[in-house]
Amino acid sequence: MKPAAFDYIVADSVDAAVAALAAAGGEAKIIAGGQSLVPMLNFRLLRPAILVDINRIPGLAFIEESEHAITIGALTRHHRIETSPVIASHLPVLGFAMTHVAHLAIRNRGTIGGSLSHADPAAELPMLALLLDAELEIMSTSGRRTVAARDFFLGALTADLADDDIVTRITFPKLPPKTGWGFEEVARRGGDIALAAVAATLTVADAAIAQARVAMMGLGDTPKRAAEVEALLLGRALEPELIDAATSAARAGVEPHSDLHASSDYRRHLIGVLTARTLTAAWRRAHGTHA
Ligand code: FAD
Repeated sequence: MKPAAFDYIVADSVDAAVAALAAAGGEAKIIAGGQSLVPMLNFRLLRPAILVDINRIPGLAFIEESEHAITIGALTRHHRIETSPVIASHLPVLGFAMTHVAHLAIRNRGTIGGSLSHADPAAELPMLALLLDAELEIMSTSGRRTVAARDFFLGALTADLADDDIVTRITFPKLPPKTGWGFEEVARRGGDIALAAVAATLTVADAAIAQARVAMMGLGDTPKRAAEVEALLLGRALEPELIDAATSAARAGVEPHSDLHASSDYRRHLIGVLTARTLTAAWRRAHGTHA
């Protein structure tokens, strides 16, 4: 199918883009990489009167390192994050997760701002933003605001964004020293949307887990942090009994949906298996023993 007719505006600044969005009164959509928006236009799931193209706004595509954080511009393409030495050094779980996003051609166009704003419950970046306690900077006609990733994803394909909001940058705190990470997902074929995924970071001190972060997706309308699993892990070494307990807690803490791709029971089973594998990899990496 082809999209319904629309007007097309190329914005040359964030101010011009938010002004165009505000003037359209809810009838405009931003286009960034177009990898999620264009299919929705083609299927006529969306019929915006105006597309505001933000691709030519200077200064929105960057990866910047500061003392405690990495900041990524909203127009930064997935492939740049996947191949960035700064990301590999300070947020390796993010770089690794990007290799699971679609196919290279899509990763060359898709942007971090577009993926987070699209808020697909089975997309990797929202789960990673939640896992890594990212913060999003958002600009609108009312000015600038910052939203924590944990408050940003409101439902399936619904984020905390008003009609004239643009995500401009995303800040990720660097991982602390002695932190290992794991990321596991199951998809029917490489590049397909995942049936389920789990990501974790474990920070180790005195042979025990000092900080645990575990996030999951593919279970419902938004990714989620597994607070019950995180609490269970604190202060303990990752012995086999603890892995079993974490696996059970992970399964008990989710109520996955069934759809034509997988049943709720199968997704719950996957969450347990992926939690065990992810925690094991994170523990080994924290000790420098992961293969
Ligand atoms: P666009 O498509 O341009 O926009 C998406 C939405 O976000 C639109 O509503 C748009 O208005 C809004 N938007 C864009 N930028 C901003 C901004 N800065 N501020 C506010 N709103 C904004 N993704 C995955 O995560 N995992 C996958 O496995 C995966 N598989 C895919 C397979 C195929 C075949 C295709 C076509 C896509 C797949 N994707 C997958 C989606 C892909 O990663 C997209 O790139 C991403 O979801 C959207 O980024 P984009 O820059 O293309 O956004």
